[in-house]
Amino acid sequence: MVTALIYDPIFLEHLTPSGHPERPQRVELAFKYLEGLHWLERDGLVQLSPRAATIDELAAVHEREYIQEVEELSQKAAERGGILALGTDTYVSDKSYEAALKAAGAPLTAIDAILKGEIHNAFCLVRPPGHHAVAEASMGFCIFNNVAVAARYVMDQHGLERVMIIDYDVHHGNGTQEMFYDDPRVLYFSVHQAPFFPGTGQWDERGEGAALGTTINVPLPAGAGFDTYEAIFRQVMVPAADRFKPQLMLVSAGFDAHWKETEAMTGLHPPGMLISTAGFAKLNQIIINLANALCQGRLVLVLEGGYEQQATASCVATCINLLLGDDAAVDSYGPAPRLPYRINTDALISELRRIHQLTGYRTRHTPKADAAKLRQEVKGSAETHISDHQHGCENS
Ligand SMILES: [Zn+2]
Repeated sequence: MVTALIYDPIFLEHLTPSGHPERPQRVELAFKYLEGLHWLERDGLVQLSPRAATIDELAAVHEREYIQEVEELSQKAAERGGILALGTDTYVSDKSYEAALKAAGAPLTAIDAILKGEIHNAFCLVRPPGHHAVAEASMGFCIFNNVAVAARYVMDQHGLERVMIIDYDVHHGNGTQEMFYDDPRVLYFSVHQAPFFPGTGQWDERGEGAALGTTINVPLPAGAGFDTYEAIFRQVMVPAADRFKPQLMLVSAGFDAHWKETEAMTGLHPPGMLISTAGFAKLNQIIINLANALCQGRLVLVLEGGYEQQATASCVATCINLLLGDDAAVDSYGPAPRLPYRINTDALISELRRIHQLTGYRTRHTPKADAAKLRQEVKGSAETHISDHQHGCENS
């Protein structure tokens, strides 16, 4: 396996106001964490510098006036100094335009290398994130929709006909959904907390016209946790992917469903979505196995949210380890806390399978997580924790 880490120090130069959760330290710490583990020198890992996305590539999903607005505001920030508001919660500094072009270019660099056969898969450690950005505006810390630009690029420039986007960021990727809502070539699958920002992503948002059925939303109440996510991945996402037969898979890899995240964002204790780093490992392993089964392992993960910096760094490192074909999580936080209630996952899944006409669809590519293997391994200095309660019934 050859895995690319796609990163550029320009991502640290997109500045946001003091106290803003989407800050340069998010990716800086993740990169340093990989350095600390000595994983940047690992066999099979190559580092690639992202190219900038071109205006035409961005304009496949964004309005040209908006692209120009970002460039001009960035120039204005350079002239005046400081940080200027692009939207209600999204800002630009003098280097933001350059950083945003390279954040959107990173998955394009990955796609070119994959389709040339130089690498198998990639992790794009980028910011600003992308999945809330809509055609004509920034939104929710996102400037350009990195994953959407990549999906259009691989279809327009490389002639692929079916791309799947998996979005497990805790927030719904409204921008991505909107850009492909009537495009049957893109299967958009999102699991997210609801009600929550941005308010979209209800189960009955399923695409339109010829694309009806190629948007799959799984809104979940706070506290749903790993058991629910895993069951949804295996029983809804996997058969939907199996039916769609993607030729490449993109992941909006946001780690803000991590159990440490609620505190980081709000100062409150859980519930949030209560996924541990080990839980993220197992969910990503399902995705990797799915890509191996359906599209020769062609898989590009692109960072979205994740604002508790240590949790995000651990999840990024864990994803890279899994992409390299290893199977361990690196984690210093351990298992998610238990909640005194459970979601009725069976009822939820049977309803989702009915809505999306997956009833009777075999889950033949459904891989089984190897808990014993996941438990074993510790790489570097960090500890591995696997939550036992994630495997059993809490009511027993
Ligand atoms: Zn998010």
